[in-house]
Amino acid sequence: MENIALTIAGSDPSGGAGLQVDLKVFKEIGVFGMGVLTSLTVQNSKGVYQTYPLEKGAVFNQLQVLFDDFDIKAAKTGMLLKEYVIEEIYEVFKDKYTMLVVDPVLVSSSGKVLLEKQGIKLLKEKLFPITDILTPNIYEAEILSGLKIYTEKDIKKAGEILKSFGVKVVVIKGGHFKSGNKVIDYIFFDKSFIPIEYPRININDVHGTGCVLSSAITAYLALGYDFLKAIETARAFFQHKIQLVKMFGKGSFYFSL
Ligand code: PLP
Repeated sequence: MENIALTIAGSDPSGGAGLQVDLKVFKEIGVFGMGVLTSLTVQNSKGVYQTYPLEKGAVFNQLQVLFDDFDIKAAKTGMLLKEYVIEEIYEVFKDKYTMLVVDPVLVSSSGKVLLEKQGIKLLKEKLFPITDILTPNIYEAEILSGLKIYTEKDIKKAGEILKSFGVKVVVIKGGHFKSGNKVIDYIFFDKSFIPIEYPRININDVHGTGCVLSSAITAYLALGYDFLKAIETARAFFQHKIQLVKMFGKGSFYFSL
């Protein structure tokens, strides 16, 4: 049986984020990667300039024929852009055993909307109840939980709120949270709250960080790791790779994958 991982994501033609970087991560970790496109972007290392949705039904149809044929162990979602894309993913995944990682991509660092406002409600109502691992950064956790996060206590409250939507494991990424020379990610798993600490790498403006971590988690799930081990191993992979980022263009740093 092959270890197949699937990404359901937007295209970043510059290869630093989205479906393109997810597939590179799958390859690097050693799983067979598949990719369902949700939308196109016009972007380079300086930012996202335009987004284009696919028409209704395109995501559902792509998913249906894949599941008809392949035994997909784990999947992740990234940029979804349209509310109807969430409906279509839900329709396919609601009765599947495939593990699902959701990176709740809302807005690009350059300020472009990557999920329309109506989509946020649907994420909570439809996608979260079938999500195994949710990986928000602090800003996404604020928007999705409706809480302002200033302290570690707020992070705990936000994590509990996100879990209450039906997500099995929530990983709130601490990269944007002031915690001195370390970064703490907060894992909410069953009844426990597990912080994992790493030295902070002081490189600003790295493109595709959320995509790389969530696709690495997905790859390790596809290899058969349990939830916690997949998250910890993916975080270690990320820590290694973020020390090797390069400037390929004139804007942000890219993972050298
Ligand atoms: N483009 C695509 C297709 C993405 O999925 C994302 C983030 O997930 C971005 C752009 C924005 O990436 P960043 O905010 O790291 O620049």
